Amino acid sequence: MKISKVDVMLLHPRNLKDDNKGDFFGAPQFTPVVCRIYTDEGIFGDGEAALPFNCGPEGVFYTIKELSKLIIGMNPLEHEVIWDKMYRQTFWALNGGCVISAAMSAIDNAVWDIKGKAFNVPVYMLLGGKKREKLRSYASQIQFGWGTELNLAKSPEDFASNALKAVNEGYDAIKANFFVLDENGNGFTDEHRTGFVTPEFLNIVEKRISAVREAVGSNVDIMVENHGFSDTQSAIQIMKRIEKYNILFLEEPSVPSPEITKYISDKISVPIASGERIYTRQQFKPYIDNGSLRLIQPDLGTSGGITEVKKICDYAYTNDISVQLHVCGSPIALAASLQFEASVSNFGIHENLIFNNFECYKELCKYEYPVVSGKADIPDKPGIGNELSEIAFKNCDKLVVS
Ligand code: MG
Repeated sequence: MKISKVDVMLLHPRNLKDDNKGDFFGAPQFTPVVCRIYTDEGIFGDGEAALPFNCGPEGVFYTIKELSKLIIGMNPLEHEVIWDKMYRQTFWALNGGCVISAAMSAIDNAVWDIKGKAFNVPVYMLLGGKKREKLRSYASQIQFGWGTELNLAKSPEDFASNALKAVNEGYDAIKANFFVLDENGNGFTDEHRTGFVTPEFLNIVEKRISAVREAVGSNVDIMVENHGFSDTQSAIQIMKRIEKYNILFLEEPSVPSPEITKYISDKISVPIASGERIYTRQQFKPYIDNGSLRLIQPDLGTSGGITEVKKICDYAYTNDISVQLHVCGSPIALAASLQFEASVSNFGIHENLIFNNFECYKELCKYEYPVVSGKADIPDKPGIGNELSEIAFKNCDKLVVS
């Protein structure tokens, strides 16, 4: 089998929910970057790079095109050979950053999709089998709302009602960033969130978390997402203030740094999770070695694809560190992630992002895998178990390499 052609696509979902394109303070609008790899035997595979918003999509779009030239004529079943060629023969991939790593990821994930279809098995079977029938899932980024509607949280009551929407659907875990917008809907800035934060700021954060805990009760896990908006000092101040609300984990307390993360983890009682801005096994290694992360969150769309993330997760397993894949993109990224999490030994929990509920993204693919009562189903179709729809092909910029 040989790779004969690659379509690289920058998708433009129809009927997006608001007009804050790329603005994180509202809700980011996704323009997913995907590729479809064709073979001379009629099998094709779909893969995604997880840089769907803000700066990133256009860069990775063209980088996938450049990498695609390298793989024309190669056997798609040889995923390690393809990965090493992209890594060793492109000069910039060695210790590369998120753009080239994301481009490699898209191609790698599409190759795994082909491989599953070629052997007529779901990808989880290629990875060692399905270790669980369903994935415990958490409702992610409820500061934007929950369900199919945006409801940007500004007051403690907003946070509580968004969390309750998810809990009423059967979720027993929710995650929020509690300091994106202030009470007036203005974005908090570095002046508020870094260095020595004020008692007034800490009071605002605490009131929001307290309202959520009171609303959802003690049977629901609450996770705190900082998005790296805080720094060493402020993250410690915030966590010391809110740890009494029984927080499951703190995500991205600072800029990604193994030393800073270790320092913070030594000062607080809550486990730290991170990984969406850590790429490839070399970057994950120091966090796993120093024990500062108890949950790693690599993204199949940025960390090097299934081939590389398998290595990262197995290495984390040697230190009893759990895995939750970061999932940020179209249903292509979601299907690949469900396959992977079904098989990975050290699975922690599955992230279900609010945007997965939106029709404008769901219609980009043929199949839906909704979370029901807080549990995600595993796709059983060959390959990753999903593929791009006609709507995706009709609403995109496309580059063709053959
Ligand atoms: Mg995150």
